[in-house]
Amino acid sequence: MKRELKVEKKMMGKNDGGSGASDRDDRPGEPTQPPKVSRRGVLRLFGMAAAGAAPLILLPPVLQKASDAGRVVESQGEPAKGPGGRIRQWTMIIDLRSCDGCQSQGTPPQCTTACVEGHFAPEPMEWIQIFEHELPGGGTQFIPTPCQQCQNPPCVNVCPVAATFSTPEGTVLIDQDRCIGCRICMAACPYDRRFFNWGDPPVPPEALLADYSPEHQVPAKKGTVMKCDFCPDMVRAGTLPFCIQACPNDAIYYGDLEDDVATNGKEIVAASRFLSENQAYRLKEDKGTKPRVYYIPGHGEAVGRDTADEGRLPTEWPWVERVKGAKTWRR
Ligand code: SF4
Ligand code: SF4
Ligand code: SF4
Repeated sequence: MKRELKVEKKMMGKNDGGSGASDRDDRPGEPTQPPKVSRRGVLRLFGMAAAGAAPLILLPPVLQKASDAGRVVESQGEPAKGPGGRIRQWTMIIDLRSCDGCQSQGTPPQCTTACVEGHFAPEPMEWIQIFEHELPGGGTQFIPTPCQQCQNPPCVNVCPVAATFSTPEGTVLIDQDRCIGCRICMAACPYDRRFFNWGDPPVPPEALLADYSPEHQVPAKKGTVMKCDFCPDMVRAGTLPFCIQACPNDAIYYGDLEDDVATNGKEIVAASRFLSENQAYRLKEDKGTKPRVYYIPGHGEAVGRDTADEGRLPTEWPWVERVKGAKTWRR
């Protein structure tokens, strides 16, 4: 079903069943008139207005150093701004009605595979992991689970050296140059979304060329903690995160709560209305972590999944093949 491109803004109240963007509900200066959400506005949001085209699949930022040495460093840490100079508030909405764990493709979850390949994430980390969860009435659903980008993040609150931090855009990052590997943050995360890099993983040559940034965490650093970074550098560069580009069912949306807009690369929605009309919820809301990742209830029914079909294929690690024969990286 095609959703509206022009919609009224409908901010979600505190009694919205916990599904609303409640961490910004009471922010002063909210417009009283409902704004329009236009395709042009969304293209501008993702830096695509000049191209006037669908989202571009760019080289991963980790590869940009060789061709554009200064740009990644310059953009890092500078929050993206929307209309009126307001800072973006990145969000992710995962529509579980469209996620079948990639069973219909007969492949491992493409979001997971694309994320690990794009970030050269050390095996066996899965920054966006697909959990199979039993439904109350029988059968199962698949729940893609990245870092929930909490607005009250326990992981940040416990880090003794401030290596993990929240950005003005609402993302939670880890600076592996500061991380001392104490793993207290891993214990504090109620979603088990942090991973420790124990090993000396081989890395492909292009990863060694990367200009390290907490926004992409390449190359990986032994003895530190890693996780989903929400790909803010990709969004600033005008493309969607790897996981979203790779989803064959367009189940994942990325957007800006400040501008009340989100897209899966195929359609554009008003974020608050999309959330409220579809009874979106967040994981473990009782923990008070205020995640920036929202879920629309479902079990893959929009793509014909039978809830009795269990299991999924294991994640692929395409870059591991490429690294065979390359020099093993050590720090
Ligand atoms: S999901 Fe875990 S790692 Fe991510 S921000 Fe929340 S507490 Fe931190
Ligand atoms: S947002 Fe980026 S880091 Fe997070 S799961 Fe998606 S591709 Fe991976
Ligand atoms: S979110 Fe998309 S890519 Fe990921 S498992 Fe579900 S259908 Fe596959």
